[in-house]
Amino acid sequence: MSRYRVTCIPGDGIGPEIMAAAKTALAATQVNIGWVDVEAGADAMDKCGTPLPDSVIESVRDTKVALKGPVTTPIGSGFRSVNVGLRKALDLYANLRPAVSIPGVRTRYEGVDLVVVRENTEDLYAGIEHMAGEDAAESIKLITRKGCERIARFAFDYARREGRRKVTAVHKANIMKLTDGLFLEVCRQTAAGYPEIEFEDRIVDNMCMQLVQKPELYDVLLCPNLYGDILSDLCAGLVGGLGVAPGANIGLEMAVFEPVHGSAPKYAGKDKADPTALILSAVLMLSHLGEVDAAHALFEGVRRVIGSGKRVTYDLGGSSGTKDMGEAIAEEVARLVS
Ligand code: NAD
Repeated sequence: MSRYRVTCIPGDGIGPEIMAAAKTALAATQVNIGWVDVEAGADAMDKCGTPLPDSVIESVRDTKVALKGPVTTPIGSGFRSVNVGLRKALDLYANLRPAVSIPGVRTRYEGVDLVVVRENTEDLYAGIEHMAGEDAAESIKLITRKGCERIARFAFDYARREGRRKVTAVHKANIMKLTDGLFLEVCRQTAAGYPEIEFEDRIVDNMCMQLVQKPELYDVLLCPNLYGDILSDLCAGLVGGLGVAPGANIGLEMAVFEPVHGSAPKYAGKDKADPTALILSAVLMLSHLGEVDAAHALFEGVRRVIGSGKRVTYDLGGSSGTKDMGEAIAEEVARLVS
């Protein structure tokens, strides 16, 4: 009998390859996981007429936890985003994206240790848009007090639990006085309940400049949906790129763990993509399940393989494939847990 049942959504593009590597690495932790495999994305569209079948949502509701690969979202026309749909359907309101330097990863910066906490259900990203006549289109930026309160509390609770020193709210309240103004007001009110954690705010454009100049000054970045989306790619760039940036979508009862990156279609089927971001997402998943020792072992396995620089993928300066890097991590993890 499996100790944990976890929904597996491999996704499309490079998704199935990195998922196979992640499962290999996870198996080496000896945590007993029973996978419930479901399909979302282009293949599901062909088979079921929808990229996000109800069975996917029902499976996550049932298992409460999912590991997910990336899913392609057609630009302009075509189906709506599976990622946005899943986050909305399951009310996964908090998106957690750590950006931590890993020795051995080529990057301009050292010692970066940031976490982006992104609101996941509102803002311009909610996709409430329509044509206003033939030659204009309108998109609605929806920000609610409830949405701001729960993401602000999540960020401060996270900071308290993880011993983080500071939360920085990111906004553009100087221009979007009502929507971002409400977000900032709620962040300030929430901060008052966490006196041991420093609180400050930054306008998003200034934040971008500050992050590339002095990332060491920041700790937890609390963002509305769209700024959080953009800043988390920026933060991924600080620590070596999308190949090493993990993420988690968390709600009150359920959580879906997935990398920041997308389906990188140009590398699909080529055994080239870096599985690190998905494996680090699995580290977050193990912590969420309370398997702290296994989470440490899996992270340490990743750190050792990247640190040795031998069996790593192209983006990390190596020539290994996705599968080989997954196996190398599994071998290190097996040594650690034996
Ligand atoms: P992307 O993240 O897929 O790829 C951008 C570039 O980053 C790639 O060309 C590649 O050079 C590099 N890269 C990304 N992941 C990598 C990995 N694991 N290993 C090595 N290199 C990697 O971004 P994109 O090209 O803008 O998006 C492609 C598709 O993915 C789009 O349809 C987009 O909507 C979708 N997407 C999905 C998710 C998700 O499922 N959560 C997230 C972002 C984008």
